Amino acid sequence: MSGVKKLKVYALSNDPIYIGTGGYTIGRVDNTIVRDTITRIPKIPGSSLAGTWRYYMALELQGWLKKNFVDFKDALDKNNTEDSWSDTKTLVNRIADNELGEEKVSFDKRKEKFMEYAVRMNEAINSSSGDSIQNHWQLYWGNLISSIKCAGQDDKPNDDHERGGMFEKLDDTGHCGHCIICKTFGFSKKNLSQQGIGFFSDLNILLFPVYTRLGVKWITSPGILEDAEAEVKFINRNTKADEEGPESIWERLRNELAKDNVIMINGSTGDASQNSINLGWLNLNVKKQDVSVSIPSLTEEKDIWPHIHKNLVIVPDSLISHIINSNLEVRTSVSIDPLTGAAKSGALFTSEAIPRGTVFYGDIRLAEREGAESVLTDDIEKALEDSKRYYESLGIGGMVTRGFGRLKVYLQK
Ligand SMILES: [Zn+2]
Repeated sequence: MSGVKKLKVYALSNDPIYIGTGGYTIGRVDNTIVRDTITRIPKIPGSSLAGTWRYYMALELQGWLKKNFVDFKDALDKNNTEDSWSDTKTLVNRIADNELGEEKVSFDKRKEKFMEYAVRMNEAINSSSGDSIQNHWQLYWGNLISSIKCAGQDDKPNDDHERGGMFEKLDDTGHCGHCIICKTFGFSKKNLSQQGIGFFSDLNILLFPVYTRLGVKWITSPGILEDAEAEVKFINRNTKADEEGPESIWERLRNELAKDNVIMINGSTGDASQNSINLGWLNLNVKKQDVSVSIPSLTEEKDIWPHIHKNLVIVPDSLISHIINSNLEVRTSVSIDPLTGAAKSGALFTSEAIPRGTVFYGDIRLAEREGAESVLTDDIEKALEDSKRYYESLGIGGMVTRGFGRLKVYLQK
């Protein structure tokens, strides 16, 4: 059976996010960010997401293999014949060399050995941690020959796929072509190229924070909520029950917005007497309507979600791009002349960014392939889950060393 497994991705920015377009100047801003070509709403491109995740998954895998190296060495090399073996990849290759003798040049024989080692390593790690049988995605057989080089660009695309990653030029092979990272994100070797199993969509803005005279409000629109498959309900103010109408929730939202040309606000007490709200330079009439919006994963963030939800504002689809674009964070910086230590004249520049507190949505689709590869999507899902925490420390996009780019990522089946 082959099919597609879809994982939803949500993200909350803890810093402003800057993903530059490289050198275009629009209006007052020198360093512009990537936007959707049709809506002009800024976004995080899927290519940025996949690129960073590839790196983070490789970090996670290498860190894990290193952490458990002593257990693996004990399991595979009981007599401790060699003390100088310092990493899993070297260890398994040397042991395979010894055990296979003349057959060590056969890829299939070697692969068999690696699969056998992976099982023994899995057992070793389970018995040392006291876990009952658990399969670690990190011990997918191909991961034993992975290296941190699988994270970036392949610098050895002309190597042979079957041999390159395994036993020749151990420390210098570019993409191995066999590990979970290479399978998820793809690789290209002279005799075999494979598109990755994972397809990463853009991360689009779902909720966008705007500073108003009533405090920070998170804006969104019916089109965005519908596209993100958020669960939206109208709540009756008096009875607190869900209100069901004859039309769909999206029609109803759009009708309400069109009729009065108003925005709707989730009535938090302080705002109850307000008849209008300013979103940047736009002043708009308010219609109060209790709406419940539920977004998987985020709803479970008890410290954050109730505050955002209480301050939701739904604006017409026709206004959302306008409001987002006029409320981006704009920072002015100046280049410093390294000789004088003073500001260079004429070197003042501005950068725009998506502000912190923005909520994004997107998805990852994993193509389930026929045969042996089909088990892999479960492993990939676990690998994505285990490596997403790096976004909270290392972030995404540009200017990450200047306090930009960190975000919390959520994965939802
Ligand atoms: Zn690899």
